[in-house]
Amino acid sequence: MCGIFAYSGKQKNAGELVIRGLKKLEYRGYDSWGVAYQAPEKLGLLRKVGKIGEFNLEYNKMPESTLAIGHSRWATHGGVTEANAHPHTNAEGTIAIVHNGIIENYQELKKELEEKGYIFKSQTDTETIVHLLDLYCKTDDFVSAAKKTLARLHGRYAVLAVKTGEHKIIAARRGSPLIIGVGENEHFIASDIPAFLEYTQQIMYLDDNEMVVINDKPHFYNLETQEEVEKRVVTIDLKPESAEKGNFAHFMIKEIMEQKDTIYRAINQNDTDILKLAEEIKKAYGTFFVGCGTAGKVCLAASYVFAKVAKRHVNVVVGSEFPSHQDFLKEKSLVVAVSQSGETADTLEAIEVAKKKGAKVLSIVNVVGSTMDRMSDYTIHIKAGPEKAVASTKATTSQLAILTLLAYACNNDLQEGKRLLIETAGQINDMLNPRYEEHIQKLADKIKNVESMYVIGKSVNYPIALEAAIKLQEVSYIHAEGFAGGELKHGPIALISEGTPCIVLVANDETRQDILNNAQEVKARGGYIIGISPQQESVFDYWIKVPDAGMASSLVNIIPIQLLAYHLAVLRQNNPDMPRNLAKSVTVK
Ligand code: GLU
Repeated sequence: MCGIFAYSGKQKNAGELVIRGLKKLEYRGYDSWGVAYQAPEKLGLLRKVGKIGEFNLEYNKMPESTLAIGHSRWATHGGVTEANAHPHTNAEGTIAIVHNGIIENYQELKKELEEKGYIFKSQTDTETIVHLLDLYCKTDDFVSAAKKTLARLHGRYAVLAVKTGEHKIIAARRGSPLIIGVGENEHFIASDIPAFLEYTQQIMYLDDNEMVVINDKPHFYNLETQEEVEKRVVTIDLKPESAEKGNFAHFMIKEIMEQKDTIYRAINQNDTDILKLAEEIKKAYGTFFVGCGTAGKVCLAASYVFAKVAKRHVNVVVGSEFPSHQDFLKEKSLVVAVSQSGETADTLEAIEVAKKKGAKVLSIVNVVGSTMDRMSDYTIHIKAGPEKAVASTKATTSQLAILTLLAYACNNDLQEGKRLLIETAGQINDMLNPRYEEHIQKLADKIKNVESMYVIGKSVNYPIALEAAIKLQEVSYIHAEGFAGGELKHGPIALISEGTPCIVLVANDETRQDILNNAQEVKARGGYIIGISPQQESVFDYWIKVPDAGMASSLVNIIPIQLLAYHLAVLRQNNPDMPRNLAKSVTVK
C-alpha cells in the first residue's frame, strides 16, 4: 500500500523521473499523489488528488532538479484531499517527507508539537513526522535530527526526508518496504523493484530499523545501535518487460493468461528442499498456515489437501487474528506464512509473534528479497513474476500448487504430487484459450447488472468459493458471498430470490452429489445456477466446463472465476487493475 519513489543523481529531470516511477507503482495506492523536488532556493512541491496515471508530463513540464521524492497515497488517516496528500512539509517549506504506514502515537506527538506552536495543515498522522524533524533540526544537523525523529515514532513505517541546502535523501524503514536501486552516479529508492528496473538491476536492501543517507554514496545505519552497516550490492534477475502489460488491456488479464506457465514454474522446485520442508512440517508441534485475503483462502484450501492427502491437521489463522492464538505456539511449532508481496503487514506481525515464541517460520512468497523472505527460517519462492493487478490471480494458483506439493511430500508421495500438478498445469494451459474466455464473457454480459451473487463449494472448493467471492467483490463491485454449500440452509438461503446467480463449484469426487443437492435447493427458490464442473448437470442453467483435476480441483475451478470477475469489471466500466478503495501489497495493519 502506498508507492514511494525517489531519485538522486546526475539526471536533471528528477521530478519527472519520480513521476514516471510513481506511475509504475500506482497499483500500490491511487487516491492522491505528490512529489517534492530540490530547486535552488527551496523545495518545489506538486500534489494532486486522483490517479497519477492520468497526469500528462508532456503538458506539465517539471522544473530542472537532480533530487526528488514522491508518493502515491492510500489514505489511512484523513480523507482524500490535496492537503492530506504527501509530501508533507514544515511551515517554511524547507523540509519535505513522504511516508508509508501508520504512526500509532501520532495523537500524543501532535499534542506535544501543537503545545510548542506547530500548526498542522492536514489530518494525517504523517504530518507529525515533518514537524518533529523540523523541531530537532533547530538543534541538530539533518542526519542526527532524523535519527532523533525516528526514535520517537511508534508503528510501522517507510519514510523519506529531504531538506533545502542538503543534497541528500534520508530514508528509513520499520515494517514497510524500501529498496535502493544503484545506478552509475545515481540512486533510486522505491517501494518495489519493478519501478526502477528500466534504469538498473543492481539493488541494495534496506532492512527494518535501518536508515540510509544517500548523497554520492549510500551510508546505512542501524537505528538501534546507531552504527554504520556495510551492505552488498545485489544483481536481480528480473526483466523490465515482465512488469509491463505489453499487448494486454490490463495487468489482470495478462496475469490470468500467464497461468499458462506460472504453475509449471512454481512446482519446478528442488526435490530435496521440498522433502526437507515436509519433514519440518511433520515434526512440528502444531503447524499454523497464515495469510490475509486471498492468501488466507489459499491457506484454508491447503488445509483440506493436507487433511486428505497428508492426513495432517493444520491450523489456519488469518494474519490479523494470529496474535490471539500465540499461547498455542511452542518452540517446536511451525508457521507457514503465505503472501504474494512478502510485505503484508498483518502476516509480518504474525511472523514476529511466532519468532518471539521461538517457533520456526516457512514463507511462501513471490517477491524475492521481500521482508518475509529475509526474516523467515525457510522460504519457497513461487516464481510467478511481478503481479501488479490488485486482484491476485497467478500468485494464487502458484501458492495452491506449492502447498499441494508439500502435502504430497508429507505423504512421502512427492512425485505423485508433481505428476498431478504437471497434468493440471497442462489442463489450465488448454483452458486459457479465446473460445473459453468468450463463453465466460457471455455469462458476464448476462449477469452484469445483478445486485448480488453467491458462490458455493464443498470441501477444498469451499475456500475456493470464499476466494471467488473476494475476486468478484474486488473488481466487479457486485455484492458477492461465498459459502460452504451445506451452510446455505442454515441462514443464507433466505437471500435467494428469483434470478439470483449462484455459482456452484463442483469436483468429481465424493462431494459431488451433496453440492448438487445444495444447488437444487437454491434452484427451487428461483436461483440461477452457474455450474463450474467437469460435467454438465441437469441443475445448471449455465455450465462452465473445467477439467477433472482430482485433488487439484481448486486450481482449475478458480480460473473461470478470475475470468468472470475480470470481464464483469470491464463490462461495468471499472478499472480491474485499480479497484476502488483497494491497493496492492497491504503494508498497513
Ligand atoms: N498514514 C499515512 C496517510 O494516511 C500514509 C498512508 C500510506 O501509506 O499511503 O497519509
